[in-house]
Amino acid sequence: MNDIFDPLRVAVVGAGPGGFYAAESLLRADVDVRVDMYEKLPVPYGLVRYGVAPDHPKLKAVTAVFDRVADMEGFRFLGNVEVGKDVTIAQLDAHYHAIIFAYGAQRGDTLGIAGEGLAGSFTAHEFVAWYNGHPDYTDLPVDLSTKAAAIIGQGNVALDVARILAKPVDELRKTDIADHALEVLSESQIRNIYVIGRRGPAQVQFVAKELREFATITDCCAVVAKADLNFGPICRQELADPSRADAKSCMGILEGFGDPGQHARQCHFLFNRMPVELTGERAVRSITLKHTKLTGDPLAQRALALDAQTQLDCGLVISSIGYKAVGIEGLKLGSHADRLQNEAGRITTDLTSGTAHYAAGWVKRGPQGTIGTNRGDSVETVDALLADHHMFERQKRAVSELLSDLKDAGVQIVSFADWRNIDAFEVAKGAQAERPRVKLTTVDEMLGGCAANDALAG
Ligand code: FAD
Ligand code: NAP
Repeated sequence: MNDIFDPLRVAVVGAGPGGFYAAESLLRADVDVRVDMYEKLPVPYGLVRYGVAPDHPKLKAVTAVFDRVADMEGFRFLGNVEVGKDVTIAQLDAHYHAIIFAYGAQRGDTLGIAGEGLAGSFTAHEFVAWYNGHPDYTDLPVDLSTKAAAIIGQGNVALDVARILAKPVDELRKTDIADHALEVLSESQIRNIYVIGRRGPAQVQFVAKELREFATITDCCAVVAKADLNFGPICRQELADPSRADAKSCMGILEGFGDPGQHARQCHFLFNRMPVELTGERAVRSITLKHTKLTGDPLAQRALALDAQTQLDCGLVISSIGYKAVGIEGLKLGSHADRLQNEAGRITTDLTSGTAHYAAGWVKRGPQGTIGTNRGDSVETVDALLADHHMFERQKRAVSELLSDLKDAGVQIVSFADWRNIDAFEVAKGAQAERPRVKLTTVDEMLGGCAANDALAG
């Protein structure tokens, strides 16, 4: 490809899978390109570090792929720089030919029902970030001195949350779960965990492998009321659809779950129950669930609330009903606020002036899909960028000027080498306790850890 840039300079915003796969695709293209990856935290990997469950360490092995991208010529990690706060989009526009926004979905969706603001009610986004040691959530006031927890939603995140609450704490001690979470979980009084779906068993969003694990959790019994597994012809038609193969496997697994037994904990899967209210004075004491029936065409059935309702006593409610994107000044969110307005990755439609903007990962397509899904999706975005790039505005100021402005403003930029020091520090600390790592959970500790691998001794 003929280079009209010297070289093409692209800023990638966000160091999760979407960002890394986009960087990889750019750096493998036949074009002279430099990629600067801006990440608000001093550490990379996004939800691979702060979402993927600590008891599923194999899924984090993908970071080795991202580390190889970081070693590619032309790549630079600029950690601890938040776009929209430390640097504006207008500033990036002045120094880069194109920007790929890959900053994920940074908040949990809420139910919008009465009582959601009570203590003891959290989104899964908050709860997961807390147990995974995300520095913005270390102080989440999680209190597990209740006998029952209700998790709303039947996707894979709900299963992660239920498993962390269900597992014996000694099994979690071997993982990289945050120390503050271990402390709280070790005092947990939770006996009953309810995973609640507004629709039926044929509509679960679980991956079968993840659900199957509930049959094997030590001293925890997975429970389903057999009556809940009866359904009509439309649901049977849905389960026969190839797109619902996982749900069909889940049905077999649910049928194998038993009745409450003599276990320390029970994990109940409840169906056709829609939360309408949380009650309690200062903290949640119970949740009211309306019974539902399904209405609509196959694969598009919706839950319709009936008059009948159940009240469930519980002191912890976690809404695991999806994620939303947050806006950054200069960008437009789509109508569901779960992604940026874009067409197959293109945010900018008029390339005749300014800087071309693109999107990748969850902020491009909404909060759906596994780590691997982001690969093809980022390739699509980069293909669009490369197809457009001959039209980009060429005159840009040097990036070195921007970086020196940031330093003058007191921003401590973290390089990938710095991250490797933090990583080594965490892994060494973990080795002392036969754990994969002990995470640093504050930005100050991380910034200290950049240079201080030997501080471990102290
Ligand atoms: P993210 O991974 O969220 O990365 C976005 C990055 O952008 C973050 O590092 C963030 O700090 C950064 N950022 C945000 N705002 C700014 C800003 N203003 N400036 C600079 N940087 C910013 N998939 C699997 O395959 N297996 C699993 O086991 C699995 N478990 C999951 C568990 C949970 C709880 C969740 C929520 C998802 C899970 N997934 C799993 C899905 C997978 O994590 C996502 O597909 C993937 O992480 C999305 O990548 P992303 O790059 O779009 O977003
Ligand atoms: P999800 O799969 O979309 O599940 C969301 C759940 O919330 C659904 O059961 C949905 O029910 C329910 N819900 C939505 N709005 C609701 C409301 N107002 N009231 C009650 N229930 C409501 O989302 P997720 O669990 O957050 O997962 C996000 C993505 O990450 C998924 O693609 C998931 O596969 C991926 N992930 C993968 C893994 C893994 O591979 N191990 C682990 C974690 C996450 P309806 O169906 O009725 O809308």
